[in-house]
Amino acid sequence: MTKYDNYKKNVLEATLWLSEHGYFGSHRGTGGNVSVRIDEECMAITPSSVSYQELSVDDIFALAFDLSVIEGNGKLTPSVESGMHSIIYQRRLDVNVVVHTHQIYGSVFSLINEPIPALFDEVSFSLGHIVEIIPYALSGSSELANNVAGKLSNNANAYIIQNHGILSLGKNLDKALLNAELLDKVAQIYCLALSTGKTIHTLPDSTIEMIMAVRNYEVNDAQGKKKVKK
Ligand SMILES: [Zn+2]
Repeated sequence: MTKYDNYKKNVLEATLWLSEHGYFGSHRGTGGNVSVRIDEECMAITPSSVSYQELSVDDIFALAFDLSVIEGNGKLTPSVESGMHSIIYQRRLDVNVVVHTHQIYGSVFSLINEPIPALFDEVSFSLGHIVEIIPYALSGSSELANNVAGKLSNNANAYIIQNHGILSLGKNLDKALLNAELLDKVAQIYCLALSTGKTIHTLPDSTIEMIMAVRNYEVNDAQGKKKVKK
């Protein structure tokens, strides 16, 4: 038992839930990864290329934000997307959990390269006023991590990675999983709505302004609190 075990357990629990509910795009594949912030310098994250059903707590890595291994199974390597997770924690102090999935409906928008606008207030207050597209770069590359970093300042909790998949962020495990679910819901409905060919009505500007204000407040509040702590 180490001081990292609870964080590792949270990563494992979230990973199994996402896998069982089809968020990785297949039940046997390993398409996606999950991390939990430990503190201002490190995170717990899934290993690379291990079937999620076979994972145990000891297989989850404790990894510094410079990607050096603090603790982990020596026979495994940390997720190839560790750089992407790390840069999110460093840029967004409000984020304590990062969920990267290959969920089906969200991934549709990664192919048509189309952001999801503000459609339902209940969804957008959590996800942000727009679910933006992060430009494509090869999976696991530092270019992809930099492309992600380039979009984080809109303070959203969900992004679509072009020709790849989804990022859902949250201040805790529950919120990050909920955001993955909300994204799935809104992507399904937006897909169906687009297929009718009829006009799609987005939320009014006054509501969008409220959503942006709430998201900005939550992010700035966390930045302020963590800076004071230091
Ligand atoms: Zn991926």
